[in-house]
Amino acid sequence: MNLHYFIIYIVETMLRVFPIPCKTGLVKIGNPNINSPVILTCNYHLTVERVKRAIKGIDAYLLVANSKGINVWCSATGGLFTNHDVISVLKTSGIEELVDHKNVILPQLAATGVEAKIIKEKTGWKVIWGPVYAKNIPLFLKDNFIKTPKMREVEFPWRQRVEMAVAWAFPISAVLAIIMTAFWREAIFPVVFLVWIISFLIFVSFPVYSRFLKTGGKRIGFIFFDFGRGGLQLIIWTISMLSLAIYGVLAGNFSWGFILSWGFISFVVVLILSIDLMGSTPVYKSGLHDDRLLKITLDGDKCKGVGFCEEVCPRDCFEIDKDRHIATMPRADQCVQCGACIVQCPLNALYFKGPKGEIILPETIRKFKLNLMGKRFVKVEGKTK
Ligand code: SF4
Ligand code: SF4
Repeated sequence: MNLHYFIIYIVETMLRVFPIPCKTGLVKIGNPNINSPVILTCNYHLTVERVKRAIKGIDAYLLVANSKGINVWCSATGGLFTNHDVISVLKTSGIEELVDHKNVILPQLAATGVEAKIIKEKTGWKVIWGPVYAKNIPLFLKDNFIKTPKMREVEFPWRQRVEMAVAWAFPISAVLAIIMTAFWREAIFPVVFLVWIISFLIFVSFPVYSRFLKTGGKRIGFIFFDFGRGGLQLIIWTISMLSLAIYGVLAGNFSWGFILSWGFISFVVVLILSIDLMGSTPVYKSGLHDDRLLKITLDGDKCKGVGFCEEVCPRDCFEIDKDRHIATMPRADQCVQCGACIVQCPLNALYFKGPKGEIILPETIRKFKLNLMGKRFVKVEGKTK
């Protein structure tokens, strides 16, 4: 890791929850010619740096499309990295005059928001879904665009969990430190320390507790926060604060300042534990809860076994039965409800079923994607609600 990349990596990991855009357009890597591969990515700065680093030494054209400075998966799934952004960079970058082919490699995780079929229809460019991780691009190019199942899969290894812990701990502790400067300076260091410890514990120990996370029943929450079944965390927090106050009164040293300070700090801790941002925070991730669970469903009459679903699924849920020309889903339980297979299926053979049995049609997923509050617009009996 060279120093330049190391500094970018550290700083942008700390600021990861914020968009960090870089210039869109065409970047030449090495000395490309008319036969060189064309690789397209989003304009999240750290991603562009990672791709450049991965393909260093390979002659290629890199197209950077506008994803509003957000990483590929979040921007495509959230409807911010779209067909329009890909078409725009293909048409305006001048790439059509530089190469003798019309194959463009897109990151596989863009398949939740960019439709290969539309790109082909509107521009003539064929989308080839590249590997999930930039580090696998060289092998993918060397093997003539063949992806191993491993290259298609999203993992949540310890390094990414540490990155996510830093990504949450830094902005939360910075905001807390600024607020506390006004009324409780002496506690800034222990509170910041506490935030970092909790963040690391949540993310690093995820494989240990993840199997216990599935819950049923109605939960209470707002915006990105989910307070569990019946608002469990809020109830525990309220009881703790009341107990602290009663203890203060009984011991004869009750102080509003003490109660408000600890109430504020502990409420921030409750918020950290309750964040529900799809794909980012593991504890209250929407997809883990029965009342939000979307079940991927295959219509066997429509499926012709084309296999686009298998190519874009980041959880290896599909297998194509080549004799019967039909997709099968032997690992459907691994689905993370990203919607990529639905968006790419040319025959509309896949759809989501909601927790109450409602059908969420492919056109709804293509149109609205997944909003960042973990809900989808649901089309039921011809109405969108
Ligand atoms: S579900 Fe759709 S993409 Fe998958 S094999 Fe069937 S027709 Fe093809
Ligand atoms: S099966 Fe699930 S994880 Fe795989 S592409 Fe479809 S929605 Fe995404």
